[in-house]
Amino acid sequence: MLATGTPAVAEAPAYRLLTMGGYPVRWLPSRPSGRIVLSYKIADRGIHQQKAINCKDIGPPDTVLRTSRIDRNAFQNALDAAFRRWRDAADISFVEVRPEEQAQIVIGEQLDPIGFAYTNLDLASEPKDGARAIVSASICLNPKRHWKIGYDGNLAVFDLLHTFAHEIGHVIGLDHPVGHKNLMSFKYSESLSGLSEGDRLGAVALYGPSRMQSEVVFLPTAQGNAGSEQITTTIGRSMTGRSAD
Ligand SMILES: [Zn+2]
Repeated sequence: MLATGTPAVAEAPAYRLLTMGGYPVRWLPSRPSGRIVLSYKIADRGIHQQKAINCKDIGPPDTVLRTSRIDRNAFQNALDAAFRRWRDAADISFVEVRPEEQAQIVIGEQLDPIGFAYTNLDLASEPKDGARAIVSASICLNPKRHWKIGYDGNLAVFDLLHTFAHEIGHVIGLDHPVGHKNLMSFKYSESLSGLSEGDRLGAVALYGPSRMQSEVVFLPTAQGNAGSEQITTTIGRSMTGRSAD
């Protein structure tokens, strides 16, 4: 029983930043006052990432599409919508590039299937401005799982938009918060449409609030891997509907 006059304590919106060696990880602008605009593409060929822990070998999502009977356009739309969720929340944008172009974020399916979905981050070797810079990232889906478009209450089959949005949250530097009511929560659920307030606050903590309406965007200069150190995160078991909790 609460004593008279004790104020009710509201649960604070939850987010947790991904850290590596004590530093948060985040994308940095390619120029001092520049916005962050990240390029992405769906893998169009097999890619081997020697030093990656997650997504070491990824390829085009052909098996995911075929096995789960998902239309290519629906897959693409889910991905685009997932990026828009974060773009609308914080001052970070994403642009799709053509398959032959180099992209900072590559999305594909695992060639060595495991788990559900994973994110791999390639980080700069030295901290800068109090953070470890993310140089490139990949998101990979297990083609042996079944995937779907939209929520239907079956928590054993993950919705692609939800999955992409969750993994993109890792791509921009967010980890799993405590609690279950966020897109970034470890456990898959279908109780949320869009980002939670905690998810949004996490993105804003990293990149500031969205200013989509008034800013002219420009692309960053191409960032190769030269001089960077491939470090993978330990967020591999990024989503599971079967975790004991
Ligand atoms: Zn995760």
